[in-house]
Amino acid sequence: MKATLTSKRSPTKSERLWEEAKSLIPGGVNSPVRSFQAVGGTPLFIDRGFGSKIYDVDGKEYIDYVMSWGPLILGHANAELTDALRKVLMKGTSFGAPTEGEVELAQQLRDFMPSLEKVRLVSSGTEAVMSALRLARAFTRREKILKFEGCYHGHVDSLLVKAGSGALSTGVPTSAGLPSGLVEKTVVAPYNDLSAVRAIFARGGKEIACVIVEPVAGNMGVIPPKSGFLEGLREITKRNGALLIFDEVITGFRVGRGGAQERYGVVPDLTILGKIIGGGLPVGAFGGRKEIMDLLSPEGPVYQAGTLSGNPLSVACGNATLKILSRRNAYEMLEEKGAFLEEVLQKEFTRRKMKGFVSRVGSLFTIFFGVSSATTFRDVENLDKKKYKRFFHESLKHGLYFPPSPFESSFLSLAHSAQDLERTKEVISEVFGRLS
Ligand code: PMP
Repeated sequence: MKATLTSKRSPTKSERLWEEAKSLIPGGVNSPVRSFQAVGGTPLFIDRGFGSKIYDVDGKEYIDYVMSWGPLILGHANAELTDALRKVLMKGTSFGAPTEGEVELAQQLRDFMPSLEKVRLVSSGTEAVMSALRLARAFTRREKILKFEGCYHGHVDSLLVKAGSGALSTGVPTSAGLPSGLVEKTVVAPYNDLSAVRAIFARGGKEIACVIVEPVAGNMGVIPPKSGFLEGLREITKRNGALLIFDEVITGFRVGRGGAQERYGVVPDLTILGKIIGGGLPVGAFGGRKEIMDLLSPEGPVYQAGTLSGNPLSVACGNATLKILSRRNAYEMLEEKGAFLEEVLQKEFTRRKMKGFVSRVGSLFTIFFGVSSATTFRDVENLDKKKYKRFFHESLKHGLYFPPSPFESSFLSLAHSAQDLERTKEVISEVFGRLS
C-alpha cells in the first residue's frame, strides 16, 4: 500500500490547471477541440511559442503541427510581427474610428485576391460568415442557403447543421438550440457531389440565395475538391441567380498566394477570410463584388458593425504577415515541407502495411487512419479513431503536437526547419512501429 502511494506521481501543472479550468469554464476550454475530448487525456496548457515550437507550462517542448489552427503561417512569435505589434501597441489599442492600417490591409487583400473588390473587416471567421449570409440573402432576396456535409463555417446558427470541426469531433454535428425555422432554410449536400447539387437546384433553385463551400474542405480532415467540382458550383450558381461564397478562412493565403480561388481558377462572388490575415490576432473579413458589398451599411440597407472591427493590433499583424508572405517564395517552401512529410508518412503506411493515407494540399494535411481515400464526409466518417488516438498520444509523448482530433487539419509554417522535419520523420517511424 505504502509503495503504491509513494510511486504515484504528483500531478503536472497542466493537470492541476485542467481541474481548476473545468470548474470555471464549460468543459474547461474556450473552444471545444482544445479539450482533447476526441483523443482523451489532459490538454496541455501552453506557456509560450517560438518558431515551430510550443512549450507547455511544465516546460516540455513540442514541434507544433496545429499552429493555432492555421493563422501562424510564419511560426510563433515572428520577430517582424512582434515589432509591428509593439509599434502599434504604444499608440493605443482601439479607437472606434478609421485608421490607416485598415486601408492598407484592404489594399493588400485585393492585391492578393483580385475578386475582393471591396472588403470589410470583422473580429472572427464566424462573424464574417454570418454577415456574408445576410448580405447574400439581401442581394438575392432569397432565404435558403446550401452548404456541404462536414464543412464548418464557424458557429453560425444556420450553418451548424451537419457541420465539421469541433461539431464533428464532439459527436454533435448538428447543434442543439437552433430554431427549426432557420434549420429549414439550410439545405445540405455531400461535398464533391455535383449531381446532388444539381438535383437540389432543379427542385428549388429559385429559393437558394447562396452556396457556401470550403474550396478545400479542412474541417473533416483535408479533402480537396474533385476536378470540376468548384467549376460546376460556379456554373450552377450563376445559371440559377444564386451567389457562390468561398469560405477561405483556412485556405486563404495558405494553399497559394491568392488562396484556393487562385489555385483552382474559380472566382466566387464573395469570399470569407480569417486566420492568416490577422497573423494570430482576432480577425475575420468578407469581401467580393462591389455591387454586392455596397449593400452594406452605411452605404446600403444591410446592417453590419463591430466595436473592435479593424482593430489596430490585428490589422498591423495582418499587414506584416502579408508583406512577409509576398516577399518570400513562401508557397514553394511550404509545398516542399508538405511534400516531405507526405512522403515520410505515406512510406510508413506502406512499410507497416497499415490502412491509411495522407491527404494534403500544400502545407495543409490530414493523416487518415483506416480509410484509403476521401472525397466526401461519408468516406471519412468511419476512420479509425482508436488508431488516431494512439498516434496522437505516442507522437505527443515524443514531442510532436498534432491536432487532438482525427477530423482536423494539421498545419505547417515557414518556421518548420529541415531539422524539425527530420526529427518528425524519426518520431513518426517509431510511432508507426508501435501502432502496427
Ligand atoms: N470557416 C472555416 C473554414 C473555419 O475553419 C473556421 C474556424 N476554424 C471558421 C469559419 C470560423 O472562424 P472563427 O473560429 O474565427 O470564428
